[in-house]
Amino acid sequence: MESPEIEKFRQFAQKKVGKKIKKVHTFDSRVFKTPRKKFEKLKGHKLKKAHRHGKYLALETDNGLWVILHFGMTGKLRSINIEKIPKHTTLLLIFDDEDSLAYISTRQLGFLALATDFKKYLEDKKVGKDSQQISEKQFLELFAKKRGILKNALNNQSVIAGIGNIYADEILYHAQLHPQRKINSLTQKELKTLYRSIQDVLEIAIKARTSFSRLPTTFIIKNRYRRGSCYRCKSKIKKIYVSSRPTYFCPQCQKKVI
Ligand SMILES: [Zn+2]
Repeated sequence: MESPEIEKFRQFAQKKVGKKIKKVHTFDSRVFKTPRKKFEKLKGHKLKKAHRHGKYLALETDNGLWVILHFGMTGKLRSINIEKIPKHTTLLLIFDDEDSLAYISTRQLGFLALATDFKKYLEDKKVGKDSQQISEKQFLELFAKKRGILKNALNNQSVIAGIGNIYADEILYHAQLHPQRKINSLTQKELKTLYRSIQDVLEIAIKARTSFSRLPTTFIIKNRYRRGSCYRCKSKIKKIYVSSRPTYFCPQCQKKVI
């Protein structure tokens, strides 16, 4: 899951702000990075704000605690009917108005933690700046120092946080840059285009509420299946593997510069 999906969860959690946590249920699961019983400390406190940084969601409470949620590939955040708790529910917060917030981890690839400082937590985990909060200046400075393959840097959460495999392809397609370009071969103009492309693609994806059907036809994700072609030049979309990740691009619009 990439930052647009997490942003959807953030907006959902934000609707619960101001509600007081009446009960906390934790269920046996390996996703807990903090002992389950510590989550009891949330009881009696209100949700203050929902934050997102990259692929992390953090729920801040009025007693200074942060519930940190990472969703892995298939995690979910839902309000549920507490009479029928869904399978794979790992953490369940019940509010004093009987509303609820459930973290459901189907494949248990995500994780949950409790922290007293989200910023410090991210620093300890060496998470890079959020891909939507980073300024153009910071981005240009960061990439001026980087080496290696472009797509790998976009996917590396310690370089820039929030972009995964699907949106990295989309961003590079819109910036018309080959996924295997060497970062140090990029001109200042290309880096600025790349920055703009990150902002535009993520914003559009968030507005589409990450539903692929609502994404514009100019997105490569809409054209990458079965003999799909580039909307700009009509070339056939090509699939390669970059660091063993499936990668789609237009060989005509995204030429490799050696
Ligand atoms: Zn093309």
